[in-house]
Amino acid sequence: MKTSVRTAGTLVLVGVIALAPAVAAQPTSGSAPITDVHYDVTFTAAGGARRHVSVQMRFTTGEAAPVVLSLPSWTPGSYTIKNFARNVVNFSADQGGSPLRWDKTDQDSWRVFPRGPGPIGIRFDYRADSLTNDGSWARPDFLLFNGTNLFHYPEGSDLNFPATVTVTTEPAWKVVTGMAPTGNRTYAATNYHDLVDMPFFVGRFDLDSAQISGRWLRFATYPMNSVPASERREVFQALSRIVAPQVKVFGDVPWTTYTILQIVDPAKSGGSGLEHVNSHVDILAPEMIGAPVLISLYAHEIFHVWNVKRMRPADLVPYRYDQAQPSPMLWISEGITDYYADLSMVRGGIVDARGFYDLLTQKAVEVASLPEISLEDASVSAWIRPRDGTEYVYYPKGALAGLLLDVMIRDATDNRGSLDGVMRSVYQSTAREARGFTSEEWWSAVSREASGKSFEDFYARYIDGREPLPMDSVLRLAGLRMAGDDLREPRLGVTTTQDSSGYVITQPLPGGPPLPAGLESGDVLLAVGGITLTDQLWLEKFRARYARASDGTEVPVRVRRGTGDQTVKVRLGFVSRVDPRIVEDPGASAKARRIREGLLRGTTRP
Ligand SMILES: [Zn+2]
Repeated sequence: MKTSVRTAGTLVLVGVIALAPAVAAQPTSGSAPITDVHYDVTFTAAGGARRHVSVQMRFTTGEAAPVVLSLPSWTPGSYTIKNFARNVVNFSADQGGSPLRWDKTDQDSWRVFPRGPGPIGIRFDYRADSLTNDGSWARPDFLLFNGTNLFHYPEGSDLNFPATVTVTTEPAWKVVTGMAPTGNRTYAATNYHDLVDMPFFVGRFDLDSAQISGRWLRFATYPMNSVPASERREVFQALSRIVAPQVKVFGDVPWTTYTILQIVDPAKSGGSGLEHVNSHVDILAPEMIGAPVLISLYAHEIFHVWNVKRMRPADLVPYRYDQAQPSPMLWISEGITDYYADLSMVRGGIVDARGFYDLLTQKAVEVASLPEISLEDASVSAWIRPRDGTEYVYYPKGALAGLLLDVMIRDATDNRGSLDGVMRSVYQSTAREARGFTSEEWWSAVSREASGKSFEDFYARYIDGREPLPMDSVLRLAGLRMAGDDLREPRLGVTTTQDSSGYVITQPLPGGPPLPAGLESGDVLLAVGGITLTDQLWLEKFRARYARASDGTEVPVRVRRGTGDQTVKVRLGFVSRVDPRIVEDPGASAKARRIREGLLRGTTRP
């Protein structure tokens, strides 16, 4: 699609051009160089009402050749193509106040034809009407924007150009971003990668700050009063507890100010976060406020400041914004970050050891319920969000792989080495040189930390291969084991599919048991035993209520059939199931107990 002057493909093309100069007269990609790059972002109450933000990009060109400007198709950290250019409206270009001719060279690139050297401006409005971590979202009194949405770059540039951003907004409104301020609502970035890695809040929102690990941490929350004062104090306390063990892993605090940009919206369920170099953006359902899982989300996003923002697979260095950039090591960036979120929770005292084992157990249960897939395959497929259930499996399975590596390293060294040591060594050897790490570098760091133990077999079977992770055998090295709780689960004896009308009862399988009397395929389940299915926890509540009921107990089941509702009495059946659970092994050796303590406290033997 778009070619950069650095690619081998273009070098071949240059050879063709030399033989056929007529082709060179019509270049379709690559921009004339530009300097003095400045972006003006205007967001007012009127723009908020229209859900528009207005952008002007100004720059200088030294020649009359076309300038080709592109918008990213994705935001780093959110590994999926979004084509932000589709939200651009009212595009125009001018030089010295008179309009310039322009056209598009591909779906997210605009080619502007200067009349000669000198300053040039482009203007457009951006439709900011969807709330996603990687997008832009306007309300009458508020705007979230990501630089990937609004800031064009010249095609073929090495992206190392400096730029400034000025935000024009209502005088009483606030502006917050991780970008360095240089004047009145003006901010500067030394290169394009940083420019688009520092999202903004503009408008009315709550903002306060505290010192954590010796640096300022700011907490910006929209809408106002969505996080009450008492809860804000709790958040800062929890943050200081989870950041300290993370700093201990890497030995530095790589930010001067860190900013949490948080939006609560009743239309959202659950929560999602997106990491940046010195900030992160959270979008949360109201019920997430005050929930322990929110602290775990903060821990995950903040750990990314090291693991992925500064210590990154080589396939992702430098970021390219015009196409997908798959990496088979995304499980290290996301899964191991999830493992460290759990470690931060227990090492910071947010949860106790039992709580930590429960966090890991949830991951083991989730992975066991999904199709077997290798971590490398799941990592490269992240971009297309597979629909077989494995869309996000590199998080929990990657976390468990991190746990097993940690235990095996500690076992091979009698708890002198750890995964912490691997993270620190890969971080120190690549982040400071601003280069990515290769698979070979990762695995040799793992092996070195484990006193030379080979991980080739582990890699072949569990990372490149699809074998289920050897949870029980490795956990025993850390004084833990996989136990099973015997569960007796009530069953209605129907299967359902979920569509826009709700849970729809499906035809029984040929040869299988028939539907309970009174129910028909196509019925939409509304309530079971008085628990409505709009309750997200209905299944858990149903199981809890009837776990000890006797065989044949009748429950009322309300269904919609056609246009009417009816209630049918259904006799419950029961199945026995083993619920896996990570527990401490009472027979653990002294060495295994030391390893377990090392995991929980983040310590190794002196
Ligand atoms: Zn993440």
